[in-house]
Order: sequence, then C-alpha cells, then structure tokens
Amino acid sequence: MTTHEVDVVVVGAGPTGLTAAGDLARAGRSVTVLERWPSVNPASRAFATMARTLEILDARGLAGGLLADAYRAPGVTIFGGARIDLTHLESPYRFVMVTPQTKVDAAVRSYAVSQGADIRRGVEVTGLDQDADGVTVTTDGNERWRARYVVGADGAHSTVRTLVGADFPGKTILSSIVLADVKLSRAPADEGLRVGSTRNTFAFLAPYSRRDAEGSWYRAMVWDRNHQVPDTESVTDDEIVSILAHAMNVDLGVLEVAWKSRFHCDERQVGRYRHGRVFLAGDAAHVHSPMGGQGMNTGIQDAVNLAWKIDAVLGGADDAVLDTYHDERHPIAKRVLFQSGLLARGVTLHPRPARALRNFLAPRLLRVPRLRDAVAGSFAGTTLRYRHRHGESPLVGTRATQILLTRGSVTELLGSPGFVLIRERSAALIDTGELAQAQRADSGPAVLVRPDGYIAWAGSAADRTAWQAVLARWTGSLRAAGGELQVGGAATADST
Ligand SMILES: Cc1cc2nc3c(=O)[nH]c(=O)nc-3n(C[C@H](O)[C@H](O)[C@H](O)COP(=O)(O)OP(=O)(O)OC[C@H]3O[C@@H](n4cnc5c(N)ncnc54)[C@H](O)[C@@H]3O)c2cc1C
Repeated sequence: MTTHEVDVVVVGAGPTGLTAAGDLARAGRSVTVLERWPSVNPASRAFATMARTLEILDARGLAGGLLADAYRAPGVTIFGGARIDLTHLESPYRFVMVTPQTKVDAAVRSYAVSQGADIRRGVEVTGLDQDADGVTVTTDGNERWRARYVVGADGAHSTVRTLVGADFPGKTILSSIVLADVKLSRAPADEGLRVGSTRNTFAFLAPYSRRDAEGSWYRAMVWDRNHQVPDTESVTDDEIVSILAHAMNVDLGVLEVAWKSRFHCDERQVGRYRHGRVFLAGDAAHVHSPMGGQGMNTGIQDAVNLAWKIDAVLGGADDAVLDTYHDERHPIAKRVLFQSGLLARGVTLHPRPARALRNFLAPRLLRVPRLRDAVAGSFAGTTLRYRHRHGESPLVGTRATQILLTRGSVTELLGSPGFVLIRERSAALIDTGELAQAQRADSGPAVLVRPDGYIAWAGSAADRTAWQAVLARWTGSLRAAGGELQVGGAATADST
C-alpha cells in the first residue's frame, strides 16, 4: 500500500475544504484534498453569499470575478413587509451576492489549485487513525495518507465525524422543501430576496442576474404544510407553480422550471470541533435551516479561522492555538442555528394571533436603526466577533477589514498570509522585521491583525512588548508571517 506524506489532509472538496486547502497551500504547507465525487458536483444549493464572506473572497482575489455577473440584493423581505436592510452595513459589500454555489465552489477551487493544493477526486476516505505524531487516513482505493493534521470538511453526512466518534445531536425541523430554478414573466416589484407565506405555505425567491425579453430567472424555495412527502418523491412543476402563487399571493407567471429537488432540513451541531489532530468544519460540524443563507458562509469562515492556526502550529506555535478554533467557531455556528431556526419558525408560524403579532412587530422593530443594523450585521457576518480575554481591549476579536489606511486596504494586506501591524495615524514607521505593517488614516489605536482579518491586540504601536507578546502567543516565539521577527533589525516599509 502506498503511503503519501503531507502536512494536512482535507476531506471533502466543498467550499469549506477548498478554502482551507487554499489558505494552507498559500501559507506554504503541503495539502491534499480527498474528494469522493469523481467529477465536480453540479448541484447548486447555496445562492446567497454574505458581506463578510465577500471580504474573505476579496482577500483571495475572488470577489470581483464572482460579482461581475451576480445579482446584488440590497435586502431581504421576510414577513408583514419587514425587511432586513443591508444598505447600512459597515462593509464595501452592502448587499447579498446572489449567485449559484457552483460558481463560488469553482472560484475557491481555482484558488486552492493556484496555491498548489493537490485535489484528488474519486477518492473516498474510509478510515482514520491518529497517534501522537499524526493521522493516517485510508481510502476506498486502499491508499494511505499520513498527515500532521486532518480537516474533516466532508459535509452533513461526514465520514470523518463518524470515524472520530462524534455525535451530531439535533433534529429535523422542516421536511419536503422544494428547491428550483424558475423563470418568471412577472417578477416581484421590490428588489432583493423575498419570502412570502400563508399559514400553510411559504415561498422564497432570490433573483439571479439572468434575464431575457420574456422574463427573469430566480432561485425558488417552496413548502406546503399539507404536502409532506419523502425527499425521494419527485417534484412536479405544478406543485412549484401552485405553492409560489399561494404563498406570494400573486401570479408571478412561471414560464419555465429548470432544475428542482426535494430536501429536508435539520438543525444539528457537534459538541467539539477538535478531536486531537482532526478538526470538523462546515456542514460536517453544523447544519441548519437554509432560510438564513448561512451554511456555506459559515463553512468558509470556519476554514479561514482554522487554516492559519494549523499553519501557525506547524510553524512552532503552541498546540493550544488549535483549541481556539473550537472556542471561537462553535459559538458562532450555535448562533447561526438559533437565528436561522428563528427565521424558519417565524415564517412557518401557524396560529393566526401569533402571525398577526409577528406581522405587527417585525416591520416596526426592523425600522429601528440600532436593531436594523444589528440584525443586518449578524445576517451579513460583519458584526460577528470572537471573545476577548479579561483585560484586553474590547476591539480584540472584532474584524479589522473596515479600518481605513493611508495606503491600500486591510483586505489587500490580507492577500498575503501572516499578521499585520497597523500603526496609529500619527505613529512613525517602526522596526517590525518581517511583520507587515501599515498606517491608519482614521483616529483609532494601533492594532495587530490576525491572518483571518480579526484584531488580536489594540493599543499603542510604540508598546512593542505588548504586541510582541500577543504575536508570540499566537505564532510561537516571535515568528510572524513565515519568518523570524528581527527585533532590532532593519525596518520594514509599509507593505501597502
Ligand atoms: C436548499 C439549500 C440552500 C442553501 N442555501 C444556502 C445559501 O444561500 N447560503 C449559504 O451560505 N448556504 C446555503 N446552503 C448550505 C450550503 O449549501 C452548505 O452549507 C455548504 O455546501 C457546505 O459546504 P461544505 O464544504 O461544508 O460541505 P459540502 O458542500 O457538502 O462538501 C462536502 C464534500 O465532501 C465530500 N465527501 C463526503 N464524504 C466524503 C468521504 N468519505 N471522502 C471524501 N469526500 C467526501 C462530498 O462529496 C462533498 O463534495 C444551502 C443548503 C441547501 C440544502
């Protein structure tokens, strides 16, 4: 039996696995992705890419290409005229990008390949055995990979999760949901994503930027409380047309149904994301209602959080850095489960008085600017934050992407792996060795930014001992951005 040796094996070539592989390869680690499908999965599940994910894609040179032919939805109309308004987001992306998941998958795949990740298709992982030094992964073709770490990004029915003995507690919350691509001659009047519901049905519409003289294409999701059948039951065009008209209370003029599928949705999350040298990420770690459009987004963000930490530990950082992957990402997905569940339950509310109260309260509450922005930020991922330690600045754990620089942007700087020190507006260039540095154009404190774009420290750039201690805690010794920090060495110019 051949044994291949690599730093990291990623199981699953979905958006989570490919993002992790790309980032690890970009950091110079040898990484192999094992994917059981012999060819690319043509099914497009996700259609909504959120602002925070777009920032991540931008740092990898992928956002522009995807946005070029995507629809930009400025908000989501949910119920009773209530709207999640994204136009006030603190991000260059004040909208949801509506594009098929297949395009996002293709973009992260090309990124992973361009960075040197080795993607093997038609290879199913069947066994996994870990010891103090690494993990041995075996496949259906009787091949063996030996890796220092394994990322289990193999989806909702994860084999890796089973092999590490992790439970996936939770339950089915909705069944017999139909997903389809439809061409409408009479598109809804308002812009953006739209949910319509009655006591027994709901329909969701997301516009693609595909239209011709006859009509426009939409991704549709429909559900009927009184038509609950197994996922295997075929979907008829009539079923889609009739639920759409009923739930939206208008005839949208369905001209064509291009693709359709029936599915159910579960709410589940693993108790621990780390199992020794094996990490669970994306749908392998959490699944929930697709209503909030969060699964792919959360998976990509899991991958980005995990990849730089594996790289840091492979480079000499303390093993405890890897525990922070669970500590930071588990609460985020827990919240996603709660929020998307709330939305699903809100849309499918049955009792009349509860629906009346919902329709009365939701639009009014979502017009209050603070609440509007909190809901929009959470939906878009821009206000999600990681916990900071006692005594640390409350900025620690928040994202740095929106900080204005005198030259370039934080996102551009994050195009290269490693930490970045951003000095205060008034602070002179300081000696940071190989650590990239930049200067704020606004009035905030100096910040040390992690490779995933979150603030690791905030204070005065002149307080070298403080930021160096934090850098050392995350990366081991004074290592930064793949090199030794040369304390007292030549000054590094702003890398913008
Ligand atoms: C109807 C619907 C709509 C959705 N809409 C949205 C949306 O708008 N926005 C959003 O963010 N999310 C959405 N999602 C969720 C999104 O599709 C998933 O969260 C996302 O695909 C998860 O990515 P992943 O890489 O973690 O897993 P997957 O995409 O499932 O990839 C896992 C891969 O692992 C492979 N694999 C499995 N087992 C093995 C094995 N033993 N060996 C090797 N390979 C293996 C699989 O073949 C697969 O390619 C939606 C989901 C559904 C069902």
